[in-house]
Amino acid sequence: MTETFDALTRLVGAGDVVVLSGAGLSTESGIPDYRGPSGAARRHTPMTYQAFTRDPVARRRYWARSHLGWRMIARAAPNDGHRAVARLQRAGLLGGIITQNVDGLHTAAGATGVIELHGRLDEVTCLDCGNLTSRDELDRRLTEANPGFDARVAHVNPDGDVDLPDEAVARFRTVDCGICGAGMLKPDVVFFGETVPAPRVADCFAWVERARALVVLGSSLTVMSGRRFVLRAARLGIPVAIVNQGPTRGDGYASLTLDAPLGATLTALADRVAAGPVPAAAV
Ligand SMILES: [Zn+2]
Repeated sequence: MTETFDALTRLVGAGDVVVLSGAGLSTESGIPDYRGPSGAARRHTPMTYQAFTRDPVARRRYWARSHLGWRMIARAAPNDGHRAVARLQRAGLLGGIITQNVDGLHTAAGATGVIELHGRLDEVTCLDCGNLTSRDELDRRLTEANPGFDARVAHVNPDGDVDLPDEAVARFRTVDCGICGAGMLKPDVVFFGETVPAPRVADCFAWVERARALVVLGSSLTVMSGRRFVLRAARLGIPVAIVNQGPTRGDGYASLTLDAPLGATLTALADRVAAGPVPAAAV
């Protein structure tokens, strides 16, 4: 553990590191990691793009649950892990931050230029006119359209999904785009069955290819969307380090894996490498 941490310190302390973060980094902010040890199985099948766009009942169910879940996501604040990553960036050690999270917490912690691979939950896009609007504005409109909608929040998934009885879903009223008047609204996140926009992926690959090391933080690398960057780095001989609670699907490609809590580990890392010059003996 200590030896592995020291190796991580040397790797990150040398700079030009690209960070790839996942749900595990946000669990300490109260956003459950449905694939990690704290929530091995999510209760609902993830919404697919196809179901969302083609099935009005599925869409209503999504918005009803998401309307309640949003309040918890909107309340979430960055944790020590996000703050440590921002410190590493300010210290000039990072070549880029890629996140699979849609909670915006890296940026809220002070990080800049973050590539949000799967989009952001606090923005809403119209599938007809393409306009982006804020989720807060949609929240106001949904609240107005559903007076007294007070079903209990039992469980929140990282995408803001909550458990809700069918009868509550049936009563929920969705709203259309407020700009073009009739377009279908969708959170500006990449659903299952949808591909990440190609230019966004190309930017990530460019960062990874220039990196001296790729450090994965809090991702089990279950989906290819994130794992492909690990595969690319490994193929190019770029060292991959993984800090995660539990095994990941990238472990076989990593030169270093650390199974440890993210907040404390990253704070200790930032204290070592971002607080001042790295001792010569540690490089
Ligand atoms: Zn529209």
